[in-house]
Amino acid sequence: MERTYLDNAATTPIAPEVVDAMLPYLREHFGNPSSIHAHGRRTRAAVEQARRTIAGLLNCSPGEIIFTSSGTEADNMALRCAVRDLNATHVISSPTEHHAIEHTYQEIDRQGQARVHLVRLDAEGRADLDHLEDLLRQHPRALISLMHANNEIGTRNDIKAIGELGRTHGAVLHSDTVQTMGHYRFDLQQLPVDMLTASAHKFHGPKGVGFLYLRSGLTLRPLIQGGAQERNMRGGTENVIGIVGLAKAMELAYADLEAHQQHVRGLKQHMMDRLRAEVPDVGFNGDVGPDSLYTVLNVRFPDDGRAEMLIYNLDIEGISVSGGSACSSGSNTGSHVLGALYGDRPGANIRFSFSRYNTMAEVDRTVDVLLQVLGIREGIPVRNV
Ligand code: PLP
Repeated sequence: MERTYLDNAATTPIAPEVVDAMLPYLREHFGNPSSIHAHGRRTRAAVEQARRTIAGLLNCSPGEIIFTSSGTEADNMALRCAVRDLNATHVISSPTEHHAIEHTYQEIDRQGQARVHLVRLDAEGRADLDHLEDLLRQHPRALISLMHANNEIGTRNDIKAIGELGRTHGAVLHSDTVQTMGHYRFDLQQLPVDMLTASAHKFHGPKGVGFLYLRSGLTLRPLIQGGAQERNMRGGTENVIGIVGLAKAMELAYADLEAHQQHVRGLKQHMMDRLRAEVPDVGFNGDVGPDSLYTVLNVRFPDDGRAEMLIYNLDIEGISVSGGSACSSGSNTGSHVLGALYGDRPGANIRFSFSRYNTMAEVDRTVDVLLQVLGIREGIPVRNV
């Protein structure tokens, strides 16, 4: 059975063109980019070309791109180094950030390095800009860290408006763009943000490589010490293979972005339309409107006893999705995002997340299987464990 993969917010399949671009650096070009001989110069050139490619796509300068081992490392660097080196004594963030940010600001607060203030969210998880402005009035020159799109529910913040507010109050803005890089266009000459974080495996690149965009003029010292790599901003021999793959994946993503967006939006809309029409009392978590992250659909199924088995039964039927319930319920993995927005609400929450490689037929089959598993339509037997 061909499996269906609808967990693209967790990670995406690597594009074949990305594999092809990486292979020469696995097979032949193994030199250390810090070596001055020809082997080293070959890989140094590849790393610098990748940096130029990414900078070109984001309309920033190559020196503003720092390669990291992941989105998590880039998030850690943004927060920890900004608090340490920019004298930010107040951090403004939100309770629904990815753990890479949430756990980091919690530690910063616990250790007394800065006071953390959480901005109020609206019912769909968007940062309340009036509250943000209040916080900025009390704590001008704060470090703001608010994600562009939430990885669990797909709600998007207006980072342009947040950046403009930040500029008015002399704040520094970091945004976790791990779910939106390669899925939306960014023009960093226009967008008033100071730091962005990205991860290649969320847009059909390899795992274990990402980057921090750091606006020039902001002087940070490295998070990871031990070498002069990345223009003294990150010690450690570069992941040349990953960096080459990251740049290729960015190039592919932006070469055909509008067509990808249209295709994936169509998949999400079709799934929503069918679920609304065919599943009584179905609900959606977060924003599902036209501004929501088009790759993510978080669905709440009524708690009918069978719903909790959904992910398991979908997996048995060859469909990979992810889920989580409110953390306060104390059961399974829990979701701090759903917990913060909806408390301990009954129901089974499942995140379906799509990519350009998914098809309408896969969405239809997923809905058909769901209808059977939920007992709405007869067909395949439902397995109970
Ligand atoms: N930030 C967000 C919003 C994410 O969705 C993820 C990955 O799930 C990360 C950060 C971490 O990225 P990485 O897997 O590269 O560490």
